[in-house]
Amino acid sequence: MTTALDAPPLDPILDDIVRTHRPQREAGSVPTHIPSLAAVPYNRFGIAVATASGDVFTSGDAHIPFSIQSISKVFTLAMALQRGGTSSVWSRVLREPSGTAFNSLVQLEVEHGIPRNPFINAGALVVTDHLMEETPDAASALLRFLAREAGGPGPFIDEAAAANELSNSSRNLALAHFLKDFRNLRQPAEFVVENYVRQCSIMMTCVELARAGLFLAREGHGTSGTVLSRNEAKRIGSIMLTCGMYDAAGEFAFRVGLPGKSGVGGGILVIVPGHCAICVWSPRLDAKGNSLAGSEALADLSDRTGWSVF
Ligand code: GLN
Repeated sequence: MTTALDAPPLDPILDDIVRTHRPQREAGSVPTHIPSLAAVPYNRFGIAVATASGDVFTSGDAHIPFSIQSISKVFTLAMALQRGGTSSVWSRVLREPSGTAFNSLVQLEVEHGIPRNPFINAGALVVTDHLMEETPDAASALLRFLAREAGGPGPFIDEAAAANELSNSSRNLALAHFLKDFRNLRQPAEFVVENYVRQCSIMMTCVELARAGLFLAREGHGTSGTVLSRNEAKRIGSIMLTCGMYDAAGEFAFRVGLPGKSGVGGGILVIVPGHCAICVWSPRLDAKGNSLAGSEALADLSDRTGWSVF
């Protein structure tokens, strides 16, 4: 079996992954409710691997900032678990795959306002509400967390993009009002959605995201020290594996075999426990809202290196 330790040298593999998977034509789509994402050139493609020993390997557009969107949900969950009182966040959100779209309203109504998991929008709104109880500006706290773990001041909030998305946020507002009606939201729905959209509008590079995700590959030890206990880091990895790609989580687990989290900005963060964190980015999406070229590239990378949790 090939492991990370005896995998072939990474630089030529990553260069070949970029050559093979960088889109040559405008396939897939971009989300219509986030106008800023439509302006990103379709042929952007970057990849970064941050290893447990502290090395970073990159290829392609790994140093260009992009909108992290739902990848933020991994880090807000980590912050909620850091706060302790884990029972309170877990009494408000479940840990089951949803099998529905990331912004689906139907399931929330049927299941009485308890979101299926923290990585769909309804679940992330509950996590945001939970964080806002202690830190009203949870988005700025997230930004500080990310800068600390990424090891530099690079991450920033694209406030114009956030304002733009906010004016197209009827669906997220509907989810928040549903949650409120079921008494699973404590702050005003508008405040929670505004804060959530600002979290999604954080801009980071593949290198920064891979470094920021390293604590999940290192049993909770991040670049700045201990972020979470080993057990909490394990749990986030488990939820990424089962829920990180929305209703394509099964297909992604089948093809890649690693815990991942995608965002509609085209980024995917993937964890190889004990070995490395990987971030790939390419903006055009498949029908489920996951990066088309990014998903292909990760399946290819996992096949070439043997990296998987199985
Ligand atoms: N900001 C986006 C939304 O709420 C995030 C969705 C995503 O990345 N899947 O619709």
